[in-house]
Amino acid sequence: MVGKKMNKKVVEVKDLVKTYQMGDIQVNALRGLSMSVKEGEVIAIMGPSGSGKSTLMNTLGCLDRPTSGTYILNGENVMAMGDDQLADVRNRQVGFIFQSYNLLSRSTAKANVMLPMRYRRNNGHVDPAEVAKELLIRVGLEDRMNHKPFEMSGGQQQRVAIARALVNNPAIILADEPTGNLDSKSGKEIMDLLLGLNKERGVTLIVVTHDPKIAALTQRTVRILDGRVENE
Ligand code: ADP
Ligand code: MG
Repeated sequence: MVGKKMNKKVVEVKDLVKTYQMGDIQVNALRGLSMSVKEGEVIAIMGPSGSGKSTLMNTLGCLDRPTSGTYILNGENVMAMGDDQLADVRNRQVGFIFQSYNLLSRSTAKANVMLPMRYRRNNGHVDPAEVAKELLIRVGLEDRMNHKPFEMSGGQQQRVAIARALVNNPAIILADEPTGNLDSKSGKEIMDLLLGLNKERGVTLIVVTHDPKIAALTQRTVRILDGRVENE
């Protein structure tokens, strides 16, 4: 185990505030939220609807910027970054999985998985089609490579989304209610796949869920209430 970074923090946020301005109305989605996640950890995020879970995920994934606070992602100070750098970090460090899969409906499974590689710099030494193929095999879709989303079940579409999330070898996977549209059997299979990938690759996994059975499969649960971590 020499050289293994046992307790390295991959996510460290402090006092995150996110205020949406809608005309005259201010919505305080995050109200001073602090948390950290260690490299390789698997955590669940739970909390009532509207408590700020998706806003937190979008912030952690560098899709959106907080109004104030600090965020260190894998040693990099996100708050100090310009837009180009933020987009680059998002591409390198983060894989997203959504409840509604968010696949391109006119593209095959393989083309969907290859897509994020286009936006990655210094990628000349890998063959995107080959990488996509290997990942689709890993998620159990070797016979669905050239199928389009409408030709696949929900669970299969979510597997494509998982392969796509992994394609740039991210440090963290952010899954916002990944099993929310699936029956409990397919949902469990998706979680088992994500947990297996965490073991194999050491990728940190953050899963928003309403389902206590899904949360029970993770190492710990962070509860969000009114834009803060509960009991903190
Ligand atoms: P959750 O995922 O826990 O249901 P969200 O992060 O989606 O919560 O929302 C937190 C609060 O922020 C809610 O009051 C929601 O209406 C508001 N909100 C979320 N996104 C936006 C947005 N883009 N513009 C304005 N208000 C938003
Ligand atoms: Mg949400």
